[in-house]
Formats: sequence, structure tokens, C-alpha cells
Amino acid sequence: MTTLLTHVTLFDGQGGEPLEDGALEIQDDGRIGWVGKTRELPRDIRAGAQKIDGGGQFLMPGLVDAHIHICWNGEESIFELLERDRSAILLEAVSLARRTLQQGTTSIRDVGGHEYIEMHLRAAVARGWIEGPRMKLSGRVISMTGGHGHFIAREADGPAEILKAAREQIKAGADTVKLMATGGSATPGQDVMASQLTQEELAAAVAAAHPMGRTVAAHAHGPSGIQNATLAGLDSVEHGSYLNEECAALMAERGTQLVVTLGVANPEIEDVHALTPIQRADYERRKDGIQSSRDRYIQTLQIARAHGVFLACGTDAGGNALAPHRHAMAREIELLIDYGVPPLDALTMGTKHNARVLRMEDEVGTLERGKWADLLLLRGNPLEDPRQLRAVAAVWKGGQAVDLRSGRLDD
Ligand SMILES: [Zn+2]
Repeated sequence: MTTLLTHVTLFDGQGGEPLEDGALEIQDDGRIGWVGKTRELPRDIRAGAQKIDGGGQFLMPGLVDAHIHICWNGEESIFELLERDRSAILLEAVSLARRTLQQGTTSIRDVGGHEYIEMHLRAAVARGWIEGPRMKLSGRVISMTGGHGHFIAREADGPAEILKAAREQIKAGADTVKLMATGGSATPGQDVMASQLTQEELAAAVAAAHPMGRTVAAHAHGPSGIQNATLAGLDSVEHGSYLNEECAALMAERGTQLVVTLGVANPEIEDVHALTPIQRADYERRKDGIQSSRDRYIQTLQIARAHGVFLACGTDAGGNALAPHRHAMAREIELLIDYGVPPLDALTMGTKHNARVLRMEDEVGTLERGKWADLLLLRGNPLEDPRQLRAVAAVWKGGQAVDLRSGRLDD
């Protein structure tokens, strides 16, 4: 029997204002059927369906997180996590995957895994052993010797080694190849403005990935790294916190996607004293940078929008000790709005645009007939109050209602 959601404010993710008193049909095959006004529902669809009255709540596509680290908890440092037994990492990742889904994030792109645990996680979800979002994965990140994240990376130098390193990830099951094009703040002692890996080295990853139908993503903060990545033909630049006019023009011309990660640069800290010693140390180290990175990201977003750069977003949850998974996508969209992105555009970034980064735009990201019924029902309208993104009433993935009761992140 098909399921009918009626009397909802329906945001279809296609860029327009939401439809008042909307209805959506979930077909037996888990895909979306009819979408429109409740009062215009065809009689035959209404007759044969199980009805759920949405009572004016807000229905939108499931969120898509374009930059996450599903194996790491975002509470301990990477160095602590690397000390831990592989099985313990895996068991926590199972929990993180379920909780991510419970928050309404129905698809993710992991851009930095842990000993390929994420590949097994994806397989377990696909087989129905555990609950979790749809996943696109990068496997191990690739960095130059001693580059950003070298302690977790496949280190490689020179185009030939990069080519091999990229092919190793694809062999292991990667959908995207992730490289480090500049320094990063999570690696002690690095300069985020300094480029790492040359344009030729980055281009070698493209040469490995594109013929295999895979995408290539680069971590890049400073303009020289952003420029190298764009000229090398990469699909996306991650973070891009020091985007300038010249890089933005180049990215727009080449169609390079920018995946901003605001939450990781501006951690949500209600009480400094409640932090663990590791988190406290991380916070003290980065405290001065947090305010400036906020100002800088407002500029990055303005420049990107002015030049028409394709904008997407990710949480970077798990990326460091102050990047928790709790409400991560909700918070990312709240920050986008806070930093000046119109609410409608911010919500479109977190759904339709991110689906395109994952190359899943034909399957998810908007509420259209034939796509997967990956749905998020919120108690209030996030276009009026972004905090409503945390007020999850129900989640469906592929038409299946997700159990929200067990082990929620906001318990
Ligand atoms: Zn990251």
C-alpha cells in the first residue's frame, strides 16, 4: 500500500518557495509518486493509500552532507582515535551512521576515512544489517609526505605516485579521491595559506579518477591551493576559506564546486568548562582564529555568490575534536543563514546542490516523482526559523520510516 503525506508545507528543493498544504505520495518501491496540493490529489491515489496527516509541518528532501568523517566522533583528537582498536572505531561508526540518519541526513560524502572501515559500513547499510545514510566515500586522503593529515593519509609525491595512490583508493571502493592542496589547522604547526601538492600532482589524481567515473576533491584554504586545484581540473574545493576574487572567477569559469564547512571553523561551544581536556586544548589553540575565520567565511560566501561559483556545504563532523556529529547539518545551514546566505538558498545548498556534489542529483536532493523518498519532516518552518532544522518529527529513507527512538544524538 502506498503512503500519502498530506497537509504539509512542502519544500521540494528546486529553488522556489514552499507549497502550502502540500501532499506527497510514497510508492511501494520507496520512490516518490505524486507531489502537489492536498486538495488536488487524484481520487484514485487518495483511495488506495495509507494516509499520514502532516498537520501543517514542514516536509523537505532529506539533508545531504557533502563533507563528513563518519568514522570519527568529533570529540576526541585524531591522535587518540588512531590509538584505539579498529573494532572500537567500527562500532562507534555504526552508531554515528544511525544517528546521522535520525537527524534527517539521508546521504553523506565521507572525505577522509579510517582504514576503509567506512567501506564496510556502507556495505552493511546496503545489505540492511544496520541503518545509515547513503554514502559516497573517498577512502584514505592523499597528502604529500608530511602534508596535512599525513598521520592518516596515503602519503605520495610526484605525479606517478599520486596516480597510484588515487588508483589504490578507487580499487578499495572510493567514489571520490580526496587530496590535500594546502596546509590545515587540524595538523599542528601547519600554514593554511601554504599550498601542498603541485598542480601537476593534483592533475595526476584527475587522470586516475575521471576515466573511472570518479570525482576529485581537494582540501584547500589559501588561494594558491584553490588555484592549483581548479587549474588541475578537480571537481570540488573543500573549505575554501581564503577564496579571493581571482580564484572565484576561475572556479565559476571551470565549474569547480565549492564545499564550505562553516561549523568546523566556528564550533558550537555553550560552556567552555564542559569541554574535555582534549577539546579544551584544541579550543585554546584555535580560539583567536575562530572569530577571524567567521569574518573571513562571510567574505568567501559573498565573493563566491557574486561570481556565481557553485556552492555546496558540509559539516566536517568528525574532522577534529570540536566537530561533533550532533545537529551538524542543521547547524551548518543555520550558520550559512547567519553569514548572509538567504534561507531558501541555504536549504537548497544542503539538499539539491549537495546531491550534485555526490553525483546523486538524479536520485535524491529534491522532491520529484521517481526520486527516492528520502524525506525530512520538521515540526516548524526552517525558512522562518533555522533552529527548526533540529526539530525532527520524522525521517524516511527510500520510503522507509526511520526509527527515531533509539540512541538519538539529542538525548
Ligand atoms: Zn574534513
